This record gives sequence, structure tokens and C-alpha cells, in this order.
Amino acid sequence: MAAIRGAQLGARVCLIERGRVGGTCLNRGCIPTKALYASAMALSACRGAHHLGVDTGEISFELSRAVSRKDEVVERLVSGVERLLKANGVDLLSGDAFIESHERIRVRKGEGTEVIGAKNIIIATGSEPASIPGIEADGDDVLTTTEALNLTRTPESLLIIGGGVAGCEFATIFAEFGSEVTIVEYLPTILPAEEPPVSRLVAKSFRERGIGLHTGVTVESTERVDEGVRTRLSDGREFLTEKVLVTTGRSFNSGSLGLDGVGVVVEEGRVSVNSRMETNVAGIYAIGDVTGGMLLAHVASREGIVAVNNALAQDNGKDNKGKDMEMDYSAIPSAIFTTPEIASVGIKEAEAKEQCMEVNVGRFPYGANGKALAMGEEEGFVQVVVERATERVVGCSIVGAHATDLIGEVALAVKAGLKTADIIETVHAHPTLPEIIQEAVEDSHGMAIHKAGRRRR
Ligand SMILES: Cc1cc2nc3c(=O)[nH]c(=O)nc-3n(C[C@H](O)[C@H](O)[C@H](O)COP(=O)(O)OP(=O)(O)OC[C@H]3O[C@@H](n4cnc5c(N)ncnc54)[C@H](O)[C@@H]3O)c2cc1C
Repeated sequence: MAAIRGAQLGARVCLIERGRVGGTCLNRGCIPTKALYASAMALSACRGAHHLGVDTGEISFELSRAVSRKDEVVERLVSGVERLLKANGVDLLSGDAFIESHERIRVRKGEGTEVIGAKNIIIATGSEPASIPGIEADGDDVLTTTEALNLTRTPESLLIIGGGVAGCEFATIFAEFGSEVTIVEYLPTILPAEEPPVSRLVAKSFRERGIGLHTGVTVESTERVDEGVRTRLSDGREFLTEKVLVTTGRSFNSGSLGLDGVGVVVEEGRVSVNSRMETNVAGIYAIGDVTGGMLLAHVASREGIVAVNNALAQDNGKDNKGKDMEMDYSAIPSAIFTTPEIASVGIKEAEAKEQCMEVNVGRFPYGANGKALAMGEEEGFVQVVVERATERVVGCSIVGAHATDLIGEVALAVKAGLKTADIIETVHAHPTLPEIIQEAVEDSHGMAIHKAGRRRR
């Protein structure tokens, strides 16, 4: 994103990549997981079809075909990015980058070395699965997310270490594929960053789907045995499963870039930046996972746009059109592909309390919405957080079908500082799921039409 925008703004851009373009997101992150999630949802739809009057006969599933389709999707997107880079005149240099000075980079590929000069450098080297003590991810039996995306046979049983976003997404996928899935999470709840009623609903739904949840306990060790992998927990329990998937944490790709030598401040692997994505060294910027902020693709992309604009705004070349920009993290949506889906934006109810902000909370269930019922998707709700004094919508959590698509409307509202009246007075098509958002906002005034209860004064 930064490379293409830089070229669009008139700069000569070189992109150095040691693997394939598209990074983690396209090759081993967002896109491959969502391609497998689509297979899981197709299976789920087949299994639930009887309820809608449709009988499918015996349902069978072949993971190797789902993985091949996933590979085709990835290939299509990666080659699309390669074409876009070319069309925009970005020089793509293959190899390992090492920053020798604030305007000189050495690129190593095999035996060869090339040195290039640049007025501005943007570090976007991302992150990798982190290892944890006592657990060696060998890639065969104890997997990281990267290997889990390339299994060609569904494991009979899978123990997932970590009940965060990645752990819960993989649990959803493999439980639907037919594995017996167990999650072990150190904190008292899975998905601890979500609103408590959201995490509770997903935990209940997981249990109903047969996913075993063990929270408030750590994994001490894993051991390869003849029958699979034996996992020992801190409370003495042991699990024997065919595979183990480690989803706890990422480490940042900053160690081998030569940042010490050029004096860029790095804290625990994270490259330090300000809101303009500048490091402490003039002309060197950093964006995305390597800065250790919100590890999300759309955050990395936005930071890339901010960094490249700032870099080119400094550079007074007559064709360069960069402008000064700062990152705004107040309206970053998040999307979690579990069953049910989860999405959120802005501040949560508890955060509002911590900030001493007086808020009204509105909530509306999927079960009272015509479209959700017609679809057979009555599990879930929308919860909005509204600043009482200004009536601005400052946060929202959605759990339920298509939550990840629905959050767009509220992300716009939070970013634009819209008030409750702006959403309430916008006519929402009927019957559609966005009506749930409208009614949740109405409920923050105690005025949802399809919800019984006392009017708030
Ligand atoms: C399983 C999984 C699922 C995910 N799902 C989602 C999702 O649904 N939504 C979402 O928003 N985010 C998701 N993420 C997170 C998302 O993938 C990352 O936040 C995003 O890719 C970060 O982008 P980046 O550009 O900072 O780094 P990366 O995408 O990691 O790209 C860094 C690139 O730099 C290259 N590189 C590193 N060092 C060097 C060097 N010295 N020289 C040359 N090249 C180098 C690497 O090869 C890599 O291609 C997921 C991540 C994982 C692991």
C-alpha cells in the first residue's frame, strides 16, 4: 500500500521483499484463514440446511481441496499485487534488507548483494509466530498458524494454545471440519479484549458446538508421543491430541535490520514511532506489526499511507504530492471470524468508565430482527456506546451473523463523530441486518421500537 501510494504521489519507489509480496496477510494470515473459514461456513450451512427445509444427503468434506482453493485465492491476490506494483512503476527487489545508514540499504540474495540509496526508508517488516518456553513448534505435530493453514488431512483432535483471535478463528474452522477441538487459555476468559457479554456468548456457542474450553490455566509443556502430542497444564491435567496449535503471540521482525547501527530506537523488538509513523531517525519511518501496535492488516495499511505521505511532504520535489498526516486510532474496526462473528470499533463500555466518560449503552438482539430470523440467524446482538453529553456514538460491538460487514456503518459514524440522531434518522432498508444497529442506537435513548422495556428519560 505504501509503495503504490508513494508511486501514485510521484516518488520513485523501491520495494524490497525477501518472500512473496502481500506479506503475512495475503500469504499466511487474513486471506488464507478466511478462505478456509468460507469452507467451514459452507459445511455449517449444509449441516443447518435441514432446518430450512433443504436436505442434502450425506455431507462429505476434503480438506486437501479446501486448501487447494485457498492456495488459488492467495495466488490470485499475490499476482494481482505484483501486477499493481509493476503498473505503478514500483521497482520490486527480491532479497533481505539491511539498513546501513539512514539513506543506504544493502539487499542480500543468496551470494549476491546490491546497495541502494534512498532519501526515505519505510520499515514494514512485520511479525512472525513467537515461540513460548517449554513448547517447541516443530511444524509437524506442534504447529504455528502457518502450518495449520496447509494441513491436507483434518486432525482427529486438535489442542489450541491461546484463546485470542487467532486461536478462536482456528477453533471455529477445525471444529467445523470435524476435529475434536480444545482451547487452553491462560486468562479467565477467551477473547478477553472483547466486551464481556460478547466473549460469554461466543464461549457458550463454542461449548454448544463441542469445543472444549479450559481458561485460567497455562500450558507447561508439550511432548511428542507415539499416539500424538501430550500437553501438560499447570493444574496437572494432561491432554493427548493428534496435533497442537500454538497461537500465543507474535515476535517482531526488527532484529536483523541493522537498526542498532543507525540508532533507531527499538523497545522489546517493537520499532518506536510517533503518530506520523516517524522513528527517532529523520527519514526513517516504520509501520505495521513491526511497531507492535494493533496487529491488524488495515492498521498497517493506513499507517503505510500516513508514513509515505509524511515522507513525501518533507521531500519538496515538484512532482511529489505528499501531505502531512497523523494516525488516528479512535475508529479502528476489528473483525473476528468465529461462529458467531464478532466486530467492534471505538471504545468499550468498561473503557468509557475508566476514562470517566458518562455513557448510555444501547443493545438490540438479532432475535428481534426480521431478516435475522428469516435467515435462521437469531444468535447475537449489537451494543452501542454513546457519549451522554454529546450524543455521539463512540463505540460499538457486534456479535452475530455478518458482524464483520455490519461494523462498517458504525466505524464511519465513530470516525465522523456522528450523533445518535444521524443513525436513527437515516432510513435503513427493511428487512436487513443494519436495522439492528439502528435499533441499538434507538435503545441508547430507551426508544427501540421492537424492544419492550422502560423508556430512558
Ligand atoms: C493467521 C493470521 C490471521 C490473520 N488475520 C487477520 C485478519 O483477518 N484481519 C487483519 O486485519 N489482520 C489479520 N492478521 C494480521 C495481519 O496479517 C498483519 O497485521 C499484517 O500482515 C501486518 O502487515 P505488515 O505489513 O506490518 O507485515 P507483514 O504482512 O508481516 O509483512 C512483512 C513483510 O516483510 C518481509 N520482510 C521481513 N523482514 C525483511 C527483510 N529484512 N528484508 C526483506 N523483507 C523482509 C516479510 O517477508 C513480509 O512479507 C492475521 C495474522 C495471522 C498470522
